[in-house]
Amino acid sequence: MLLDRLVSCPYCGETFEVVLDCSAGSHEFVQDCEICCQPIVFLLVVACDGSLERLELRREND
Ligand SMILES: [Zn+2]
Repeated sequence: MLLDRLVSCPYCGETFEVVLDCSAGSHEFVQDCEICCQPIVFLLVVACDGSLERLELRREND
C-alpha cells in the first residue's frame, strides 16, 4: 500500500513529495530532502487497518 504525501522539509521548509509504504507497518526511516539534501527522519505511524495515522518529520540530530 503506497501513498504519496506532500511534506515540508524541517531544514529548508521546501515542500516535496514522498512515497510512503504503509504495508510495512509503523516505522522510522531516513530520506534526504530533494531540495537541500539533508537527512530527514520520518516517523510513520500506521493504523491497524493499514491506513496512515500519523507522519512526523524531524531533523536527524534533534
Ligand atoms: Zn530541505
